Amino acid sequence: MYNPCTIELNREALRFNCERVRELAPQANILAMVKANGYGHGARWVATQIKDLVDGFGVARFEEAVELRRELPDSRLLLLGNLANPALFRDCFREKLDLVIADFPAVKMLAETLEQSVDQNTAIRLWLKLNIGMNRLGMTTQEFEQAHTLLEATGKITELLHMSHFSASEETDHSLTNRQAAKLLELSARLGQYPRSLANSAAVICHPRTHREWVRPGIMLYGDDPTGLLSGTKQLQAVMHFKSRIIALRDVAEGEGVGYNHRWRAQEPRLIATVAAGYADGYPRTAPDGTPVVINGQRCPLAGRVSMDLLTVDVSDLENVQIGDEVTLWGQELSAAEVARHCQTISYELFTRITSRVQRVYINEAVPAASST
Ligand SMILES: *Cc1c(COP(=O)(O)O)cnc(C)c1O
Repeated sequence: MYNPCTIELNREALRFNCERVRELAPQANILAMVKANGYGHGARWVATQIKDLVDGFGVARFEEAVELRRELPDSRLLLLGNLANPALFRDCFREKLDLVIADFPAVKMLAETLEQSVDQNTAIRLWLKLNIGMNRLGMTTQEFEQAHTLLEATGKITELLHMSHFSASEETDHSLTNRQAAKLLELSARLGQYPRSLANSAAVICHPRTHREWVRPGIMLYGDDPTGLLSGTKQLQAVMHFKSRIIALRDVAEGEGVGYNHRWRAQEPRLIATVAAGYADGYPRTAPDGTPVVINGQRCPLAGRVSMDLLTVDVSDLENVQIGDEVTLWGQELSAAEVARHCQTISYELFTRITSRVQRVYINEAVPAASST
């Protein structure tokens, strides 16, 4: 209650961004990526706000999937590539999770698990992953074909899907992504008619030919457009507003330093605001002097090293600045992507690093529906 360092999470912005996905990929099913606790926005919150707008959810860790399963007993939930293990497979099937199978040793282990300990009533939905160039997960063409045949032969698969993940779909040169897409689409067509999934956010926005049966948007749901192509009324909206307040103001004389090691020094007399947000809240310590924050609608530059609980800003050029004034660290008026660029990172990392002590405030929540049945 007394903690001014807050993230506001905006349901309407999240739903707006979801609707943009639907508009861009009208024929495709939408698997909303909510891994890493919904890119730091809270996976349960995100999933419950948009479950009527999407067709499923993707996470990277089994425990995340289980937590969501409690909330969403009937939703399609996909667990991404993991350390293969028969017990994990059985637990996934018990939790009715879809599974990404991303390498060949896992295929053999899975086929044995299916033969030995899975009955015919268990729904088995597998997303076979082809390596199209990231060289991180995914099978070679030969392995993929073998995996496909081996798994189909078990007679226990409810649904087999074909997936890949692009390595640079946000780049303006589309030739690499086109070649990567062709690799999966050609192989898949050779094997029959199977649902295919390739597109992350950037491909949802700028590679419509890759949409196919399932798209897998992540960052665009949270308001960052990795292509920068959506503008005007189509422009995505920030879901997270990270903010805090000024807790002190200091006059700093010419030549004085501010913060640890005096990284920043006043070239002339300046007014410095101390803000209750630091790297222990998830504001990046790597932020250089000059990284913007917004106070009373105006941008001010970070001045001095970010510390654990505090950061300092040069507010000399603001009128009427006061203790208690709100400070936007990122949000609709200052994008996380812009702050990230100053810090040589991406919005994804900033979002996922918000820590648990930051106060969560939910805005534009729907009024709970009256039970009429
Ligand atoms: C995270 C992830 C996505 C979503 O990527 P964005 O760039 O956030 O849209 C899609 N597919 C896979 C396999 C992922 O791991």
